[in-house]
Amino acid sequence: FAVHLVSFFFSKLQEDPTKKVDRFLYSMCLNDGQLSDISARFQAEMKKGLSIESNAAAAVKMLPAHVRSTPDGTEKGQFLALDLGGSKFKVLQVKVREGTGIRKGEVEMEEQTYPVPRELLSGRGTELFDHVSKCLKDFLHEKNISLEKKHPLAFTFSFPCEQSSLNKALFLNWSKHYRARGLQGKDMIQALREAIDRTGGMDIEVLALVNDTVATMMTCGFDDQHCEVGLIIGTGTNACYMEEMRHVDLVEGDEGRMCVNTEWGAFGDDGALKDYITEFDRDVDAASSNPGRQIFEKMVGGMYLGELVRLVVLKMAKQGLLFDGCVSDALRTKGRITTANVAAMEEYKNGLKNTRDILMDLDLTPSPDDCIAVQHVSTIVSFRSSNLVAAGLAAILTRIQQNRNLRTLRITVGVDGTVYKTHPQYPKRLHKVVRRLVPDCHVRFLLSDSGSSKGAALVAAVAQRLASQRQK
Ligand code: BGC
Ligand code: MG
Repeated sequence: FAVHLVSFFFSKLQEDPTKKVDRFLYSMCLNDGQLSDISARFQAEMKKGLSIESNAAAAVKMLPAHVRSTPDGTEKGQFLALDLGGSKFKVLQVKVREGTGIRKGEVEMEEQTYPVPRELLSGRGTELFDHVSKCLKDFLHEKNISLEKKHPLAFTFSFPCEQSSLNKALFLNWSKHYRARGLQGKDMIQALREAIDRTGGMDIEVLALVNDTVATMMTCGFDDQHCEVGLIIGTGTNACYMEEMRHVDLVEGDEGRMCVNTEWGAFGDDGALKDYITEFDRDVDAASSNPGRQIFEKMVGGMYLGELVRLVVLKMAKQGLLFDGCVSDALRTKGRITTANVAAMEEYKNGLKNTRDILMDLDLTPSPDDCIAVQHVSTIVSFRSSNLVAAGLAAILTRIQQNRNLRTLRITVGVDGTVYKTHPQYPKRLHKVVRRLVPDCHVRFLLSDSGSSKGAALVAAVAQRLASQRQK
């Protein structure tokens, strides 16, 4: 017995520090059965949002994007583009060059990033738009673009809007860092036009507003005809896909397809995920600027991953499971662990060293085991994010497959967003889980750098192509 006791103690002392984290965070580790369950729930939410009877009450809005075709490579034209609502605000000039014969078309662009002053995020909406149009004017000036000519412009706006056409977009609600006042229910195209008029000295024709997911799908669609899904995993998260018109109740007509912006960030806002929500999710939500909203986004998006890690580490420390029970003021401070930190902690070679540096920066003195444990917290939190995205994506792919009555589906998903682009393990994990959840789908993931910016111009170019085809 004594021998057993000694070896028990010995094994306790030597226990792999990731084990206690697994026990502490078991509710964040989702197995394939749970992911399929979440996927099935999201499929039900999509149906609810598409149907005219249930749309008003649906958490997942399934907004028709009025994009009826992905690019076919014959588009052309030169457009200005604005991209507001991601991690950066950008102004661009995009040239779409038509492909001839076997040569594919090309997209060329020049861009400039402008900061959005913090106070504008929560000030008056008109002031935010004034800033946008002043940056546009600065861009025209900087790039020596003629002010004499009329310029067509397309607008990537990464928030939910109810669109009745490409150039009418009633704003629903803010998410992420934004909460400027006085825009709800207003037409964002009109708001932009008015701001451009107030700024003066420019001749701009605002042609289209698109969500960043739609823009990403269109950018990737220009290179790959199979691209019919757009995915953003950035500050926030969302996805769009090509739906059959006969299922889009909110838009007249049954022929062909239309892109639907799911706004899946709001999945769970009606309690649909309540048995998967942890105490850490509840805390993140309660401390956010939009409590009770964007529940799925708060489990997935880059704005929240670092904060989730911080809350877990803080609680473990308070319970004596880390740092010998020591807690620092920095660790108690909201926002002190960022998603960039999470990515650094999971880097292949330097991950543990980075973890140590990050913890020291928080005035903590971690042991080697503490570093291993905290790195593992990061892994569980970011893995859950990619798992949840995989579940949502599996639902969309299954739906497309059923829509088209296909035994196997070949499809490309266009992806953009800082988390997907900067987290060293995220893409690989996501791809693997999606392929496991929907084995009948041959999915290609196409990363589109700046896809969400360029794509607005492609939407405008496709609309012009369709219009000229109708005239012929
Ligand atoms: C917005 C979406 C957007 C997503 C990614 C969400 O917060 O509601 O419209 O596509 O972020 O930027
Ligand atoms: Mg219809």
